[in-house]
Amino acid sequence: TDEVLRCEGCGAALQVEDPGAIGYIPEAALNKIPVVCQRCFRIKNYNEMSSVTLNQDDFLKMLGSIANKKALVVHIVDVFDFEGSLIGGLQRFIGNNPVLLVVNKIDLLPKVSNWNRIRNWVQKQVKENGLKVAETVLVSARNNQGFDRVIELVGRLREGRDVYVVGATNVGKSTFINRLIRDYSDLGSELTVSQYPGTTLDLVEIPLEDGKSVIDTPGIVYRHRLTELLPKQYLKTVLPDKPLKPMIYQLNEGQTLFFGALARFDFVAGERQSFTCYVSSGVKIHRTKLDRADELYAEHKGELLTPPVLEDVEALPTWVKHNIRAKAGAETEVLISGLGWITVNNKNGADLVVHAPRGVKIAVRTPVL
Ligand code: GDP
Repeated sequence: TDEVLRCEGCGAALQVEDPGAIGYIPEAALNKIPVVCQRCFRIKNYNEMSSVTLNQDDFLKMLGSIANKKALVVHIVDVFDFEGSLIGGLQRFIGNNPVLLVVNKIDLLPKVSNWNRIRNWVQKQVKENGLKVAETVLVSARNNQGFDRVIELVGRLREGRDVYVVGATNVGKSTFINRLIRDYSDLGSELTVSQYPGTTLDLVEIPLEDGKSVIDTPGIVYRHRLTELLPKQYLKTVLPDKPLKPMIYQLNEGQTLFFGALARFDFVAGERQSFTCYVSSGVKIHRTKLDRADELYAEHKGELLTPPVLEDVEALPTWVKHNIRAKAGAETEVLISGLGWITVNNKNGADLVVHAPRGVKIAVRTPVL
């Protein structure tokens, strides 16, 4: 017989170590009856979804199992980390099923944003990243923006198919799904947790008012996002909570900006110009001379240069350099995945270097705003 203790809701093997992983149960709940994991408990008692995560292999296996079903895939990405939160090669794994791309957290963009321009930008990024999507929609799961459109598109695109919601961690998948449950689900019927055949993955089916249902899937942890390399307590510092305040710096060549001790941006060569930084207000930007930068970092990381604090700086992978050439005549923006982005405002060209922990994704793109 099976020696492992299993959740009576979803069948996952129970564990007490990792609250973010499948099958987590607080130790104190082990002697309650029925024995259910924390996630099933919340779903059952509060109709509320919480995030669980999978490793890369299991995540791809889960996506792969969608390929041989008729499904609509709702792919949620975070507008604050667009390139970092895209699921690379999604289409390869899910077969011929259509994708609805939901771009979440648009409440973080400045209020005066030109939404048509942003929509076009999203479409361009989708193409450049080799993604094929049926439709895109901009939403704020937190502020309930864009949800009528989501419901309309899901209704139109699903054509009798199941709806799978997929995304990386911290893109707001749970917030999105909880919003759907609150506003559109048939609260008379319970959410059902079903074990995915042949796997230990629990998928949650959410019945909607119109008889349709939506299935939540576990998120994937992308180690190329700075937010995922930091201890959890930094999420509220590094993820912006309010609309981004652009910070404009006039720099001469040979000047450097530090973003706490998380990353560094060198303006190596070019005429004096301005750069606009879009990062959380919790990340302190510090300007210095390029030829002083190494010394400043060695002496002040984790103190003047924070977040994070010193012991957490030392736990991060060492920095690597990314050489970036902002071409004359082109508009350039540099994304540091999970941290934010820097727009080069002058179109006369510039030589730049970004220093960031090894593995963190750096993307050069046209400006979103
Ligand atoms: P999940 O890991 O994808 O399930 O993400 P969560 O729903 O747990 O959200 C991750 C973080 O993003 C939390 O701090 C949320 O408060 C935040 N978040 C989710 N949706 C939004 C949104 O629409 N706008 C903003 N500004 N933050 C959001």
